[in-house]
Amino acid sequence: MSDQAIIDRIETLTNLLNDYNYQYYVLDEPTVPDIEYDRLMRELTALENEHPALKRADSPSQKVGGEALKAFSQVTHQIPMLSLDNVFDQQEWQAFIKRVKERLKTSTQIAFCAEPKLDGLAVSLRYQDGILVQAATRGDGSVGENITENIRTIKSIPLKLRGDNLPEVLEVRGEVFMPKASFEALNANAVKKGEKVFANPRNAAAGSLRQLDSKITASRNLAFYAYGLGFVGDLDGNDLSEDVLPNSHYQRLTLVKSLGLPMCPEVKLLQNEDECQAFYQSILDARDALPYEIDGTVLKVDSIEQQKSLGFVAKAPRWAMAYKFPAQEELTILEDVEFQVGRTGAITPVARLKPVYVGGVTVSNATLHNQDEINRLGIKIGDTVTIRRAGDVIPQVVNAVVAKRPDNARDIVFPSTCPVCDSAVERPENEAVLRCTGGLFCGAQQKEAIKHFASRKAMDVDGLGDKLVEQLVDEKLIKHAADLYQLTEIQVSTLERMGQKSAQKLIRGLDESKSTTLAKFIYALGIREVGETTASNLAQHFLTFEAIRHASTEQLIEVNDVGSVVAKNIVSFFAQVHNNEVVDALLASGIHWPSIEVKSADEQPLADLTYVLTGTLSQMGRNDAKAHLQSLGAKVSGSVSAKTDYLVAGEKAGSKLTKAQSLGVKVLSEDDLIALLKAHQVL
Ligand code: NAD
Repeated sequence: MSDQAIIDRIETLTNLLNDYNYQYYVLDEPTVPDIEYDRLMRELTALENEHPALKRADSPSQKVGGEALKAFSQVTHQIPMLSLDNVFDQQEWQAFIKRVKERLKTSTQIAFCAEPKLDGLAVSLRYQDGILVQAATRGDGSVGENITENIRTIKSIPLKLRGDNLPEVLEVRGEVFMPKASFEALNANAVKKGEKVFANPRNAAAGSLRQLDSKITASRNLAFYAYGLGFVGDLDGNDLSEDVLPNSHYQRLTLVKSLGLPMCPEVKLLQNEDECQAFYQSILDARDALPYEIDGTVLKVDSIEQQKSLGFVAKAPRWAMAYKFPAQEELTILEDVEFQVGRTGAITPVARLKPVYVGGVTVSNATLHNQDEINRLGIKIGDTVTIRRAGDVIPQVVNAVVAKRPDNARDIVFPSTCPVCDSAVERPENEAVLRCTGGLFCGAQQKEAIKHFASRKAMDVDGLGDKLVEQLVDEKLIKHAADLYQLTEIQVSTLERMGQKSAQKLIRGLDESKSTTLAKFIYALGIREVGETTASNLAQHFLTFEAIRHASTEQLIEVNDVGSVVAKNIVSFFAQVHNNEVVDALLASGIHWPSIEVKSADEQPLADLTYVLTGTLSQMGRNDAKAHLQSLGAKVSGSVSAKTDYLVAGEKAGSKLTKAQSLGVKVLSEDDLIALLKAHQVL
């Protein structure tokens, strides 16, 4: 690189990192993942080390954190609050140990206090005569924000320390963080209300603690673990730490714990440096199961005496090291968005990504869920996006780096027809998901549609189970329900594990299923939200299939149990040419049903009465009982209320029976029901 190129690169990196610092520390809204920040910072420090004369005065490599927000009063730290150096692999870790031993001029093993690296924000708590008098953020390391009122709302932080003979001033340092469960609940709620969503628990913790209204902080369920001490001495500023505290970092933490402050239960004292790698691995293994987010371990030389002789560099101690875990967030390019049609017709946008290694796997796809999620993320095709993959959780698009958006970035446009079958798509009211309306025909939905069609309460095709449907579709013998009736015994018997007998049984089953009822046929079509009862009501109301097929939304709404959503689903279903083609082919194959006669009022003696069925009916199934009652005009409901006229209670009737009794609803036994049906000549 030429000198000018180096100067330019240092300037670019300095400006970029300063921007990222501002977004991260001041706004609590990072735009790039930490790994990208760390990469750029390493590049900058390497250039600065090679060319010290080119280091700029505003270099982020020399600064801790960001500036304190002016809205808070400011606190000058009596002892600066520093950052930590970091390593990412065993080699770098070994190099650190080597440096420590060289500086200490020792070849004996070194004891370490080993701690998880909590992903929150550092605070300093000042206790005077055991009373919490002040709390501050780290800020730029020298000056932080006064957040005393907000800290008081964190339940695990004592306002008064336990124990006697405390030094006049005792500053405890530690991390405020948001447990994973609280973070997820906070974001889920924000999505529901269309409010700001936090990128990760660290930013959620920082954003919640740095609130001008402490009531908001109080509502956020923050937690705290102590991991060190600041100034310990008297009010005149005399440092008494050596007199009153043990010479071990670990023992100091245990002392802080005995004063009533929480300490992370994973913290361990390691007698020698060789145990550090195993500790790192054990915490990495435990990472997903821990109730709080961590991004590595922090290993601190345990002896305070050794710490003192090691000292500090510009912004971090030489006696501590953050040994970071592999990144769970990475940057990549959103190359395209494809639309997948699920088994139920739901159309899901899927991000096609430039393959990226993150969270231990290579990720090249991520679901974008629905239009609302795309709007919330504000992403475009061509964008650089942050991908997150934590634990076994499916990869997720977190945000777009808008500053890196290319000029030719494209909006994500949802298809107006189904990408699989070309039928119209619609977004039902109050639903986030777009759906294909070609249920009977659509290739993506074919297996589910056929399984439903053949099921017992629909066409009841004997010998056609779910597995066989899958086999028939996979072997391309059928595409949709109407193809079933074209199958031949020879075709079926060629299938694996299918003998001649089973093939004969299936063909016979198909033949027999052709004789059905209008209600069952309507139900078998699998129109969204048209269940058995609705299908039966439609049949009773319209009497012929053609009347249902051509009914308008207004006409459909007149049917018992049919609301505007169901009516629209029916109209959309029959508006699809392909669905009608399948229906016509079905009818042409010989499916038939007895015509329904209009029943007069005296043929519907149970009209206006509501029945509920419960328990086991041993002489007839509940479905049959329901159908018989409905044929006499009764309404059969699923739950007992004051409007229920009769409860038919079979064996092992439970809560419905108790409720019916408490409401004074008349209770019939199965025998009573049979007698009633016989009296009306239904049985
Ligand atoms: P750091 O987070 O790497 O380490 C220091 C901090 O670790 C301490 O201040 C403390 O808050 C925390 N910590 C957690 N557990 C601890 C323990 N047991 N003992 C001591 N400290 C513990 O350093 P930093 O200066 O706060 O931040 C720098 C890092 O932040 C960068 O490496 C980067 O990953 C991230 N960052 C990201 C962006 C971005 O835009 N994504 C911007 C700025 C910084």
